[in-house]
Amino acid sequence: MHHPEDPKHPEIEKALARQADETLRGLSRRDFLKIAGAAGLVSATGVQAAPARAAVSSQARIVVLGGGAAGMTMAARLRDLLDGARITIVEPSEIHHYQPGWTLVAAGVYSVGEVQRRNERYIPRGVEWVRSAVAAIDPESQRVETTDGDRLDYDFLVVATGLHLDYEAIEGLRREDIGRPGLTSLYASAEAARDAYEQIHAFGEHGGVARFTIPSTPIKCAGAPIKATFIADDLLRTAGQRAGADFHYHTGSDTLFSVQRFDHMVRDLYAERGVSVNDGGALLAVDVDARQAQFQTRDGGRETVDYDYLHVTPPMRAHDFVREAGLAVEDGPLAAGGWLAVDDRTLQHTDYPNIFGAGDVVATAIGKTASTVRSHGAVMPDNLVDVIQDREPSRQFDGYTSCPLITEVGKAALVEFDYSLEEVPTFAFLDQGAPSWMWWRLKVHMIKPLYFNMLRGRYLR
Ligand SMILES: Cc1cc2nc3c(=O)[nH]c(=O)nc-3n(C[C@H](O)[C@H](O)[C@H](O)COP(=O)(O)OP(=O)(O)OC[C@H]3O[C@@H](n4cnc5c(N)ncnc54)[C@H](O)[C@@H]3O)c2cc1C
Repeated sequence: MHHPEDPKHPEIEKALARQADETLRGLSRRDFLKIAGAAGLVSATGVQAAPARAAVSSQARIVVLGGGAAGMTMAARLRDLLDGARITIVEPSEIHHYQPGWTLVAAGVYSVGEVQRRNERYIPRGVEWVRSAVAAIDPESQRVETTDGDRLDYDFLVVATGLHLDYEAIEGLRREDIGRPGLTSLYASAEAARDAYEQIHAFGEHGGVARFTIPSTPIKCAGAPIKATFIADDLLRTAGQRAGADFHYHTGSDTLFSVQRFDHMVRDLYAERGVSVNDGGALLAVDVDARQAQFQTRDGGRETVDYDYLHVTPPMRAHDFVREAGLAVEDGPLAAGGWLAVDDRTLQHTDYPNIFGAGDVVATAIGKTASTVRSHGAVMPDNLVDVIQDREPSRQFDGYTSCPLITEVGKAALVEFDYSLEEVPTFAFLDQGAPSWMWWRLKVHMIKPLYFNMLRGRYLR
């Protein structure tokens, strides 16, 4: 285990995280920027105030579907941009989940409580909250139906319902199986992330075969399955149990990371740490009782293997009502997932000019991260206001995607790129791609307060 003075010690990380959270809670934007600036973090995170624009007077009825990272951020920004508009959020959950913190729950650094907050704290003042789920959208009559049978008429619609975790697409697997002995998935919930932490310790006591999977579909935070692998590897090393564990990483595609430099970096680190990589091998089936997993083989066949610890990253797609409403992309590599068809620069729907998308649901080639939402927040609401004013959308999304790629407990690389798949480092004079304690500290102490400020429409990119 860690020595108490070791900077990697989970208790020290927890105390620092609590301290940062308490210090930043309630600070004005100006104070936050001062502190972040002094710590060199303003430029490191591209922090800036939301672009200034005078409020536009409008009576428009705007319905925002989903109140997660994107829905809440877009609603907050629209509220600031418009004077007199009637804005409604449709969101069934009372709890807001800070999902980028789930990897740190799996590392034993955050508790489950530290990544959950009540939604009522973030619904923007003056915005109505319908506590229900969307059942259907009729884009012709401009109406949304909820699962409670309510009907909401809109002039403008923002679809921000995130994505569906399709565990059931894997034969023999149900979402509720996650957490059974040997079967983990930090994507399922904060509790499941905590379970992954506990199960890796239980696995370490006996050793055996650990397998980590990634599907062939687009997924949110494509770095998270890699982080899950590095964290598990490091927790076992720290406990002196790594020698008894055989690590395998199964990916449904041919790359580990879309940016070449990080693909190479992860492959090199995997080789160094004894993680074997199986390219092109999506998980097809699981026999939970027998602890067996079946993978696609390169020649189109199937291979069944045993496991003692399995971390599943499920296939992901948009919710069914997007396709059922005729709003999904119909051609190209993203068609199978039923993602919302938007212009990948303006985020306006390709057929319905009064519909916009934000967050994970949109059919863009890259960009399913909360950092992307920061960019969507500086583009999409302004473009919607342009349309209200009978103008063409004026702002362009550049594909910005970012995540601190954890390579061990205590170190991360800060990955930032855009549609070009070239790096767009905010801190260009430092090598953000080299794993360092600095980006780890950024992840643990600064990103969470930034995220919760983003939900209020602040610090957009
Ligand atoms: C394990 C993990 C690690 C991650 N790590 C990072 C990271 O390091 N950095 C980073 O930037 N991003 C990270 N992300 C990704 C980030 O959390 C998402 O990209 C972000 O939350 C997307 O925002 P969203 O609003 O589109 O979706 P969500 O935040 O998931 O919100 C979707 C909302 O829609 C609601 N909803 C669902 N169905 C309906 C319905 N029928 N009607 C109404 N509402 C509905 C849900 O309740 C939810 O509130 C991570 C995600 C996970 C799971």
